[in-house]
Amino acid sequence: MELTQEMQGKKCISLKRSKALIFCIKCINKILPTKDICYLRNPKLYKNQRCIACFREDETFYHLADCEIYEKIWRNLEKEAIQLTGSEALKKLNLRLNENSLEEAIYGTEPEEKRYNRKMHLRGLTNIKQLTCLSRVTQSKKKANKVLASFIKHFWECFYERLWKFRCEVMVEWERKNNITVSEKKKRSKKKNGNKENIQPLESEKEGVKEKETRIQKEALNRVDKWVRTGKKEGWVQFKTK
Ligand SMILES: [Zn+2]
Repeated sequence: MELTQEMQGKKCISLKRSKALIFCIKCINKILPTKDICYLRNPKLYKNQRCIACFREDETFYHLADCEIYEKIWRNLEKEAIQLTGSEALKKLNLRLNENSLEEAIYGTEPEEKRYNRKMHLRGLTNIKQLTCLSRVTQSKKKANKVLASFIKHFWECFYERLWKFRCEVMVEWERKNNITVSEKKKRSKKKNGNKENIQPLESEKEGVKEKETRIQKEALNRVDKWVRTGKKEGWVQFKTK
């Protein structure tokens, strides 16, 4: 795959870059530690696969693309990925691309198509329709391919920076509230049958299901708002190729 080769660099691979590469490989294989995966590893600690943001569906890899709570973050990050792709095309290919046509060629026009493409992009996949549209826009299939590869790189970068990091912060807090510690997680993964200390009902389970859902959704939406407003944070993942 062109992108992973590009990210590996020519001689040695830096720690930051190798971490970015691992993140991408996890995305490609749908093995980011979403709650369904955490639950499979540790059913007694996690209790269920329910999404910690919307509390309506199970948190699978693809649910990250569908979760209503994250929609605002998605809209922003997808716009940002287009802007970054546009600037790179100008810088490296000397191509001046209209952002709207770039957006339409890559994301499509229908809501269902957009949702489907989002899931494909998460796995680093693009399709023939996108290539055809972009070839028309760039007047070159070769350039269209380069633009698509550059897009996926920026898409992953934005997904990590804007959404995954945020979701992980929420998850860490959720784990803390539910007395799930790092040592507990390690203990469990070493000893499959585990101990029974942590399975008594937790504080948060005492409130009614409906109130709990409403409270969590409200909390999550507030956080999304704050996250969207406060902008860029430093992170360990760098997808830059220079
Ligand atoms: Zn959700």
